Amino acid sequence: MSIEILYKQNNGFTPFLLAVAGKRVAILYDVNTAPYAEEIREQLKGAGCQITDVPYPDEQLLPTEDKCAKAQLAADAAEYVLAVGSGTLNDMAKSVATRAGIPSGVLPTAASMDGYCSAGAALMRDGFKVTDTVNPPAHVLVDADVIRTAPREMTAAGFGDIVGKYTCLADWQLSNIINGEPIHKEAFAMMEQAREACLGAYEGLVRNESEAIETLTSALLKAGLSMALCGNSRPASGSEHHQSHFLEMDFARRGLPIPAHGVKVGLGTMISLELYHYLSMARVPCREQQRVWALADTLPSPDRVRELLAGVGCPVRFRDIGVTREQMRQMLALAHTVRDRYTVLTLCAELGLTERLTEPLIDKYY
Ligand SMILES: [Zn+2]
Repeated sequence: MSIEILYKQNNGFTPFLLAVAGKRVAILYDVNTAPYAEEIREQLKGAGCQITDVPYPDEQLLPTEDKCAKAQLAADAAEYVLAVGSGTLNDMAKSVATRAGIPSGVLPTAASMDGYCSAGAALMRDGFKVTDTVNPPAHVLVDADVIRTAPREMTAAGFGDIVGKYTCLADWQLSNIINGEPIHKEAFAMMEQAREACLGAYEGLVRNESEAIETLTSALLKAGLSMALCGNSRPASGSEHHQSHFLEMDFARRGLPIPAHGVKVGLGTMISLELYHYLSMARVPCREQQRVWALADTLPSPDRVRELLAGVGCPVRFRDIGVTREQMRQMLALAHTVRDRYTVLTLCAELGLTERLTEPLIDKYY
């Protein structure tokens, strides 16, 4: 299924309105995003659509079964589902639309994570987080002036997710060097260019300018597009995401609110960069060592990335998001086991390096 990304400042949402004209549309939104839902509802009405509102009175919506059931009811009677919001509402819309066999769309209200275009939906079932395979949205309606009104931490988290593309792409290359895992050149280049564009817009992001916010949003959307292109999540997810997943499961197990995805990814990125730099600086012997060291030398320093993250308001210490020293210890020991995917964490675990570096890493990043 193709994903159409429409930018408001270029062509408005006319192609979207034409695509859904006259249809029965269910709109999902929460208390934070209601004003933006109202705006697009009026436009849809103008295009002859019949609207069913699915409002959630929640400040912090959780995608539980009963919350989804309400959306499912509306989706089953509709021909299109539109989410106005960020991660959770988007995941719910993709899920209920897939079940109903109809297309969905999203009007993102925050540039906070890279999952908008993905074929996965993170939901809660029996109190546990599950990721369902779903159809990606048919349309993404990007209005930078809406997104820039999101809380600053959300944009910071989105930037954290983008700096993570340094290490996830390096991990892909590492696996290519060591295991011969093929690299999908087009998907790799797409993500690399998106990351560079974002870094080029850095000053604008710090100032929360519309153009820079659009660049960040576009980069986050490309994560989904590049994954679709190569058929797996390699272009967007490596060791930094595995650390984030580990922490997420740990927080969920303890029944605590889960810190923003991109913030955890940003923290994991600095750890992964430290490992790469140690491999090169200490000339650690390993398979294909010359090529591994050369790869590490292409990466920015962890301190540089730390500076960038801090500059947009992203936490740069694990304690800032409530992670304890012991949790960090477990994360460093186990994060390479959360996915069957070769990364710098796998290599360093094989070499016994992570164990040796655990305490210095905790001292620097706790
Ligand atoms: Zn991510």
